[in-house]
Amino acid sequence: MTAITAGTRLFALLGDPVAHSLSPSFQNAAFRSLGLDAVFVALRCGADELPGLLRGIAAAGGGGNVTVPHKALAARTVDRPSDAVRRTGACNAYWMEDDVVAGDNTDVAGARAAVAALLGREPAGARVLLLGAGGAASATLCALADAGAERIVVANRTPGRAQALAERFRTPGVRIDVVDGADALAGERFDLAVNSTSLGLKADDPLPLDPEAARVTVDAVLDLVYARGETRWVREMRARGLPAADGKEMLLRQGAAAFSRWWGMDPPLDVMRAALGAP
Ligand code: NAP
Repeated sequence: MTAITAGTRLFALLGDPVAHSLSPSFQNAAFRSLGLDAVFVALRCGADELPGLLRGIAAAGGGGNVTVPHKALAARTVDRPSDAVRRTGACNAYWMEDDVVAGDNTDVAGARAAVAALLGREPAGARVLLLGAGGAASATLCALADAGAERIVVANRTPGRAQALAERFRTPGVRIDVVDGADALAGERFDLAVNSTSLGLKADDPLPLDPEAARVTVDAVLDLVYARGETRWVREMRARGLPAADGKEMLLRQGAAAFSRWWGMDPPLDVMRAALGAP
C-alpha cells in the first residue's frame, strides 16, 4: 500500500459481519495500481451507526460499499439514489456527488455482467430460471428485466416472496412467472439457471437445483454463492458438461462498477480479478 498521507481518502465497507469480505483486497489493489491516495477498509457497524458513518465518510471525500444487513437502510439514507436503488430498495455503494450523498446498487450491474460473461452475450431474449427471492435475486431480476430477457421463472422456498419480486419488476415485454417448486418445471428448458439462495454456503447444503431430478433442461448455471474451490453446484454441473461459474465474477463486477462511480474512471479489472483470485 502507498503511504497514508493527510490527503488519503477513506473508502469503507459497512455491514455486519464484514471480517471475511474480499472487497478490501481487490479495491486496495485497484487503488494501488493507479497510484490513488486512498485506502479501503471494512467496518463492522450496527443499524444505529450506519447513517452517520455513511454520510460522514462521504462528506470527508470518501465513499464505499454497504453489505448485509444494511442495504435497505442505506437506500433510505442516501440523498441521491440511482434508478437501481429505487427499483430494488437496496444500496450497496455510496459516494459524494455535487455536495450530496449518492448511492447505487451495483449488484444490478454486477449480476448483468456476470450473466453476460457466462453466456458470452447480453441476456436479451434469454430464458432464465432464478432460484431464490432475497436481495441477490432482486438485483438479478432487475438486471435481467432491464436487459430484456424473454422469460424469467422465479422459484423460492417461500413462494410469497417470489410473487412479490415478480410484481415489483413487472416489465413490458418480459414474462416473469413464479413456480411453487422444482416439480412444476418438468419438461421446461432454460438458457441459464441462477442460484441466488444461500444454499452452497455450507459444504453439506443440498444442491439448489438438480436438473436431472427436476426433469428440467438448463444450458448453463450461475451460482451467486462463492466458496473456496468453487461451490459444489458449480463443480457438479460442470462435471455434467454445463458451463458454470460461481459468485466471484458478480462480486468482482459489482466492485468494478462501484469503483467507476467513486472515481469517474474505468476500473483496472484485470488487477482486481487477479487480487480476487477469480479465473
Ligand atoms: P437473503 O436476502 O437472505 O435471501 C436468501 C434466499 O435464500 C431466500 O430466497 C431464501 O428463501 C433462500 N434460502 C435460504 N435458506 C434456504 C434453504 N435452506 N433452502 C432453500 N432456500 C433457502 O440473502 P441474499 O442477500 O439474497 O444472499 C443470498 C446469497 O447470495 C448469499 O449466499 C450471498 O453470499 C450471495 N450473494 C452474492 C453476491 C455476489 O456478489 N456474488 C451478492 C449478493 C449476495 P426464503 O425466502 O424462503 O427465506
